[in-house]
Amino acid sequence: MKIAFIGLGNMGGGMAANLVKAGHAVNAFDLSADALARAKENGCATFTSVREAVADVEAVVSMLPNGKIVDSVYEGDVIGHAPAGAILLDCSTIDVATARKVTADATAAGYEMVDAPVSGGIAAANGGTLTFMVGGSDSAFARAEPILAAMGKAVIHAGASGAGQAAKICNNMLLGASMIATCEAFMLAEKLGLDLQTFYDISSKASGQNWSMTSYCPVPGVGPQSPADNDYQGGFATALMLKDLKLAMEAAASVDADVPMGEKAAALYEAFDKAGQGGLDFSAIIKML
Ligand code: NAD
Repeated sequence: MKIAFIGLGNMGGGMAANLVKAGHAVNAFDLSADALARAKENGCATFTSVREAVADVEAVVSMLPNGKIVDSVYEGDVIGHAPAGAILLDCSTIDVATARKVTADATAAGYEMVDAPVSGGIAAANGGTLTFMVGGSDSAFARAEPILAAMGKAVIHAGASGAGQAAKICNNMLLGASMIATCEAFMLAEKLGLDLQTFYDISSKASGQNWSMTSYCPVPGVGPQSPADNDYQGGFATALMLKDLKLAMEAAASVDADVPMGEKAAALYEAFDKAGQGGLDFSAIIKML
C-alpha cells in the first residue's frame, strides 16, 4: 500500500521503518529536518508538507505529541486533502474527546478512521512489537488491522471511536498507581528491616504480586533486568506517565468517575516531574519515597 506517515519522532521513526520493511511505500512528513533525514535513510519518501504527503495515498498514519496537534493536522491538512476513501489511523496518545471529534469530522467527509494508541516504548516501536488498542467501527478496524500488524505484536479492537484512547489511559492510570504502591511497599519493607530480595521472593509469589514488581522492578538488582538497573535511564519517561495520568484525570472528570488512587498517582508524578526528574524512567519515583 501507499501510506503517509506524519510524526517521525522517537516512536514514529521506527514505526514508519517497519511499514517500509513490510513492503509498503511510505510518504513521510515531520516538522523536524532530522526526523525526515532519518526517515529517508529508512527508505521513506520525504515531503515538505502534510498535504503533499497525503495527496495520493490509501492510508494515513500519525504519531504526534498531543490532541491539539492531532486536531490541527487532520482538520487542516488531511481531511479533504487525502484521497476520498483513504483509511486514517491516529496512533498518538490523546484525549478521548478529541479522538472522537476528529473521527466524526473525518467520517462526515467520507473517510474511515481509527484511534490506535500503543503500549510499548521506543524499543517496541523499533522492533515492531507494539500492542495497539483500537477504537473505531468494525469496517474501519478490519482495514486498519493489517497496517497496524506490520508495526506490532498485538492489535486489539477495544470498541467504538475513542475506545482505544480510553483503554490506553485506564491501563496507564492503573500502571502509575501500581508502580507507586510497589515502590512504597519496598521502602516500608526496608525500614521494617526486611531484606529487599527476600521481600521480592515472598511478594512476587504472594497476593501483592503485580507487573510493576515482577516485570519492571523499581529496586536495582532485584527481579529481572529493568531501568532501575540502568540508573533509571531509558524505559518510559516520568513526563510521559504524567501526560497519560493528566489525560486520565480529564477523562474521569468528563464522566464524573471517582478515581482517588489515580488522582494521588497524578499528584505524586507531578511533584516528581517538578523536582526536575521528568526525564527519568517512571519507576525512579521510588527515590522520592
Ligand atoms: P516525539 O516528540 O519524539 O515525536 C513526535 C514527532 O512529531 C516529532 O518528531 C515532532 O517534530 C513531530 N511533530 C510535531 N508537530 C508536528 C506537526 N504539526 N506535523 C508533523 N510533525 C509534527 O514523541 P514520541 O515519543 O514519538 O511520542 C509520540 C506519541 O506516542 C505521543 O502521543 C506519546 O504520548 C505516544 N507514546 C510514546 C511512548 C514513548 O515511550 N515515547 C510510548 C507510548 C506512546
